[in-house]
Amino acid sequence: MRKLTSLLLAAVLLLSCTVTVFAAEGDPVEIGVYAKTEQNIDGEYTAAVENGSASVITPDGTVTVTNAPNGAVTLVVIPMKGEALTWIDSCVDADAIAAFDIHFLDANGNRINANGAKVSITVSGTELTVSSVTTSGADSKLTSEVSSEKVSFTTDGSHYYVIAKKQAEDDHHTKVEVEDFGSEDITDGLKDAGYDTVTKIETQLTTKVVALNCGVKEENTALYDVVLMYSTDGGNTWLKADEEHFPEDGKLLVSLPVPAGTSTATHDYHVVHMFSKDAFGKKAGDVEYPAVTEGDGYISFYVTGLSPILVGWVDTSTTGPDGHSFTDKASSVKAADATCTEAARYYVQCDNCSAHTTEKTVPVGDPLGHDWDEGTVTTKPTCEKDGVRTFTCKRDSSHTYTKAEPATGHSFTKYESNNDATCKKDGTETAKCDHGCGETDTRTDKGSKLGHKYEDGKCIRCGASQWLPETGDNSHIFLWVGLLILSAIVLFFLIFWKCRKKDEPNP
Ligand SMILES: [Zn+2]
Ligand SMILES: [Zn+2]
Ligand SMILES: [Zn+2]
Ligand SMILES: [Zn+2]
Repeated sequence: MRKLTSLLLAAVLLLSCTVTVFAAEGDPVEIGVYAKTEQNIDGEYTAAVENGSASVITPDGTVTVTNAPNGAVTLVVIPMKGEALTWIDSCVDADAIAAFDIHFLDANGNRINANGAKVSITVSGTELTVSSVTTSGADSKLTSEVSSEKVSFTTDGSHYYVIAKKQAEDDHHTKVEVEDFGSEDITDGLKDAGYDTVTKIETQLTTKVVALNCGVKEENTALYDVVLMYSTDGGNTWLKADEEHFPEDGKLLVSLPVPAGTSTATHDYHVVHMFSKDAFGKKAGDVEYPAVTEGDGYISFYVTGLSPILVGWVDTSTTGPDGHSFTDKASSVKAADATCTEAARYYVQCDNCSAHTTEKTVPVGDPLGHDWDEGTVTTKPTCEKDGVRTFTCKRDSSHTYTKAEPATGHSFTKYESNNDATCKKDGTETAKCDHGCGETDTRTDKGSKLGHKYEDGKCIRCGASQWLPETGDNSHIFLWVGLLILSAIVLFFLIFWKCRKKDEPNP
């Protein structure tokens, strides 16, 4: 159980009073509430919840709650004091005059944050605001009703609720005013810097904004005189502010309605600001280009110091983003290197300025072409069948092509005799293919004829007889032949003569 019950103190008040509460429909009605407030040692004030309502009396005011959440048995209100109040004061803009932790306990004594409960607190003061603060210190302003020393609001589930005095009007109220820039707005600083006419200032700023922002045309610009005004009497009278009224860094947020005929939905805006005096580390005549934030019907930007501000605009419904026009002009920014088959690609540059896209690209130059190596034999040729040579691109090994690697043909060099030469005829010799394919070639082994080899008148190899004369003198042969021829002639004449004699007619 919570210490709340065990540390109950004697300060028990029984009272009867009439308070205003909100009925469920929202209309305030007067009802009688008998509130029994208990205070414990931790400075908690509690009361039993009956029919969704409870009320506690604290030194900082009577807190009445209706529309308590389901399961809420006890209302707990803790007025914040000392360090807690100092902390909560730092969480809200205004000065806290009272702050409470308002919550409930269920039947088991567990905390239920007040969410959607209607709370009214009796406090004195008319210019009051109510804020809720979470345990992490985040504050939100709540809608509140303040009437006859009472403030009413609806809880949002936060731990703490703060009643604060509305911020008193500042002694130094400032505001930014925008009007057309005229010759009376030219400061001595601008004159000294050479900008002594509105035209000179406008020309300079227009040139800058057109040069820097593609699509902004000279006629689509407007020159403004932006001045900081301040009031010391709650806004009744306004004076032109000096540097002392500026924030320390000189940066002021300027909001301008968009120029006539333009819309944040269809236009982009570009701002250039010229310093009108030497201040904040800038020289009169210098320019700055503040980033522009587009709101609904207005643009805002931070500038350092004020006066002449030129706004340029571009209709982005008729141009690309920021007014660029990207056709097919190559920028100097490469998007992709050239490959064997594709030319290098460059981002497209704006037709009117040096900006480039990061999407659209155009080809520039020629493809590199493949750079083939000398090839490697990927399928060996045989003596009779072509093989395959594969060439690979040195730039990209996935690029290949093949060519037939010619058959080697047989190679017969090492002939061996078949030992088949005879005495009268050359033999043969046979070689096996040097490549080991098993093919053989047989040819005549020229000059291998052996010739007879006689021994005792006969060839010892083939057995042929050797022819020899009777004597060893060969001249006798001619004598014998001559004798034979002579006897043949004599014989012929004898026969011829005898025949003629027989054929002659007898006388
Ligand atoms: Zn451009
Ligand atoms: Zn290649
Ligand atoms: Zn072969
Ligand atoms: Zn022989």
